[in-house]
Amino acid sequence: MNSKEVKEIQELFSTPKKVVVVPHKNPDGDAMGACLAMYHYFNSTGHSATVVSPNDYPNFLKWLPASRQVYKFDSQNRQSKNAIDEADIIFLLDFNALHRVGDDMKNTLECFSGTFIMIDHHQQPDDVAKYIYSDTSICSTCQMVYHFLEKLESLSAITPAIATCLYTGIMTDTGSFRFPSTTSTTHRIIADLIDKGANNAKIHNHVYDTNSYGRLQLLGRALSNLVVIEQLKTAYIALSQSDLDEFNYQKGDTEGVVNYALSLKGIIFAVIFIEDSEQKLIKISFRSKGSFSVNKFARAHFNGGGHDNAAGGRTEISLDATISKFLNILPQYKNELLNSYEE
Ligand code: 5GP
Ligand code: MN
Repeated sequence: MNSKEVKEIQELFSTPKKVVVVPHKNPDGDAMGACLAMYHYFNSTGHSATVVSPNDYPNFLKWLPASRQVYKFDSQNRQSKNAIDEADIIFLLDFNALHRVGDDMKNTLECFSGTFIMIDHHQQPDDVAKYIYSDTSICSTCQMVYHFLEKLESLSAITPAIATCLYTGIMTDTGSFRFPSTTSTTHRIIADLIDKGANNAKIHNHVYDTNSYGRLQLLGRALSNLVVIEQLKTAYIALSQSDLDEFNYQKGDTEGVVNYALSLKGIIFAVIFIEDSEQKLIKISFRSKGSFSVNKFARAHFNGGGHDNAAGGRTEISLDATISKFLNILPQYKNELLNSYEE
């Protein structure tokens, strides 16, 4: 986003605007944090903003300021469509292609004739927005929203609610400030967000220390299902629909589980396969350490994508067939896997 585009955006917001803010389907902490930060920013600066999420978001995010005001496109379809119809400007946050909101909402967004602005840190953004602020080197969309407000000379408009939302997204997308994408700039921004009213200890508690008994039991099942392929530095976990049902699965309960597989000494590629009988698909999360790109792997074989070290994908075959497919492909990557990361 160059300075001419920033000027145009400033011009755009020189009169009151109706803004809709959209995260990707199954939004995570970064997507929800970015959307709600924008919601608070525009509503406190003379505009009117609504967040329309494609579907529900995890319980561990339901404490975020104004999260209850978010419309869900699947279950609040009429309100969501009205908001989109009436909008002047739509922000697309934390995703790089329209299909990431799901087919129904994609169709609605494709009819929108106003201005799209995309802010995202995933690779290869589609050319769907008039203004695209894309930077794959930045750890989180929330950090990009901070830089966006900086470009608009609006850092002084960051309220405690905005600071809380941005802190949450940066924290969750960096694995609590530990992934290599975490820079000194990230830490300086985090310090500023604490100064502006983000209560860091409370945010960590809300996100990480509000597990249900069922969620921890499901984690136990996931860990006992862990399979290690030492000679390929790979580990994977499969959770069937019956595993999920047994522990009263709630959205978000499997978030972060794949990282336990990656935490094994010597493992640089970790995968979790999760069966979803209702949608008739297997949802897959890929994580890696070092140069082995799970974005490329997910794009090439599992209908997905993401970042070099964190990506998602899906299949529409059975859980067993998905795992077989994965195990058949894996040896092709032996050299890359063995040379990806030095301890
Ligand atoms: P997760 O495994 O947590 O669902 O996703 C990991 C990362 O990859 C997230 O940043 C997520 O937004 C991204 N991602 C997940 N699925 C897809 C996909 O199908 N396409 C693309 N481009 N990114 C994805
Ligand atoms: Mn993100």
